[in-house]
Amino acid sequence: MKYYSTRDKERKNAYSLKEAAFLGLAPDGGLFMPESIPQVNLDEVRRLAALSYPDLAIYLAGLFFGDDIPSERLELMIRHAYDFDCPLRKLEEGKYVLELFHGPTAAFKDFGARFMGGMLSLLSDKDRKLTVLTATSGDTGSAVAAGFHKVKSINVVVLYPQGKVSPLQEAQMTTLGDNIHPVCVKGSFDDCQALVKAVFNDYTFRQSIDVTSANSINVLRWIPQSFYYFYAWAQWYAETGRKRPDIIVPSGNYGNLTAGMLAEAMGLPVHRFVAGANANSVIPDYLESGVYAPRPSIRTVANAMDVGAPSNYERMMYLYDNDFYKLNGKLSAYSYSDEWIKEAIRKIYKKYGFISDPHAAVGYLCLEATNAEGFYLATAHSAKFSEVIKETIGHDVELPEQLAHLSGKEKSYIIMDNDCKALEQYIRKLVKKEA
Ligand SMILES: *Cc1c(COP(=O)(O)O)cnc(C)c1O
Repeated sequence: MKYYSTRDKERKNAYSLKEAAFLGLAPDGGLFMPESIPQVNLDEVRRLAALSYPDLAIYLAGLFFGDDIPSERLELMIRHAYDFDCPLRKLEEGKYVLELFHGPTAAFKDFGARFMGGMLSLLSDKDRKLTVLTATSGDTGSAVAAGFHKVKSINVVVLYPQGKVSPLQEAQMTTLGDNIHPVCVKGSFDDCQALVKAVFNDYTFRQSIDVTSANSINVLRWIPQSFYYFYAWAQWYAETGRKRPDIIVPSGNYGNLTAGMLAEAMGLPVHRFVAGANANSVIPDYLESGVYAPRPSIRTVANAMDVGAPSNYERMMYLYDNDFYKLNGKLSAYSYSDEWIKEAIRKIYKKYGFISDPHAAVGYLCLEATNAEGFYLATAHSAKFSEVIKETIGHDVELPEQLAHLSGKEKSYIIMDNDCKALEQYIRKLVKKEA
C-alpha cells in the first residue's frame, strides 16, 4: 500500500508505509492517506468480533498492511498490543457506551500508540536506533511511552513541562524505565513543542540521528483507531438487531472521529456521526456557518480536547470529497461548556451509577441532545481526572489496576533547560550509548 498527502491532488508523490510512518506529516504539510480504502466483509467482521478484539484487528490490519508486513508477524504484534478489551456497555434500550479506557494508560490513545509501537519495531532498521521524540501536556506522552516501552531498536524521549502535568501523568511517564527517557523541561508545553520542532528542523542533526515523532496524525496511530468502530458495531448489531447506529465521538483533534469515518468508507454501516466538543467549538461552528475558523484553544475541564485548530480537519474533508454539504449530511456537532459537562457527570452518576470522565460526559450530552440510537465513545477512565470528579460528585474515584500500581514506584527523569542544543546533545548520547 502506498500513501499520498491530502494536498497532493494529482498523486505525484507516493510514499511507502515506512516513509509515511517515519515522516508523520507529509512534506507538503498535508496528512497521509492510503492510496485506496480497503473494503470489509461485514459477515467476517461479525464472526471475528465474536471471537475477540485481536482476531478482528488482525483481519482489518491485514487489509492495510498485509503487503508490508508478513501476516504471522502482524498477528503476533497485534495479539501482544491488544491484551485488553473494549466492551460496549448498555445504558438503556438502544443507547450504549463503548469503553475505550481499559488499556495500559486508561485512555483510548492506547489503541493507536500500542499499535504504532509494534509496527515501528517491525518496520525499523535493526541496526539503526530510531529516536521517537514527543512533547506532551500529559496524556499523549504517557500513551506513547507505554505503547513503545521495551520496543527494541527504539528510544523514546518525552518532553513535558515542569510542574504542569499531574502527579499521576508524571508517574505514567517516569516509572517505566528501559528505553523510555522522560525529560522535564524548565518551561511551558509550548516550549516543549517548540523544542521538538527545532530538532526536526535541524537537518544537520537529522543526518546523523534518525528521529521521528509519534504525533496523533501519524497513519500508524490513525488507521488502527478505525478497528474498534467495527468491534462496537458488531456488538451493537448482535445485541439490538439494528444495523445502522448513531456514533458519537468526543473530539479535540478529530483523529478519533476521522478514524470512524475511515471505517465508514471501508463499509461500516453508520446512520450518522455526532461530534462532541467542549468550549472549543471550531467544528460545530463550521458545520453551522460553513466557515472554518481555527483559533487559539480555551482551557476546559475536558482538557484533552482543548484544541483550537483540529489537525485532522483536512483528512475529514478529504474523506467527504471536500464537500461541505456531503459532510454536513453525515455529521452533526455540539459544543458544551464546563458547567454542562459537570452537570452531565452528576447526572450519569445518579442515573446509571457509574462515574464518567469529563470527555465521555460530552459524548453522553450529545446522546441526550440528539436522542441517538447507537453509542458514544468513552475515551478515558474517570480516575485520570480526579480533581474534576471530586468537585462534581464529592468523592474520589478508585484507581484502576493499571494506574494504582504506579504509586510508590520510583520516578526517574532528567531536568533540562529550554535549550535545543542541550536536547540534541542528550539524544546523541543516548543513541551512542546503545550503539
Ligand atoms: C485525545 C483525547 C480526546 C480527543 O481525541 P481526538 O482524536 O484528538 O479528537 C478525547 N478524550 C480523551 C480522553 C483524549 O485523551
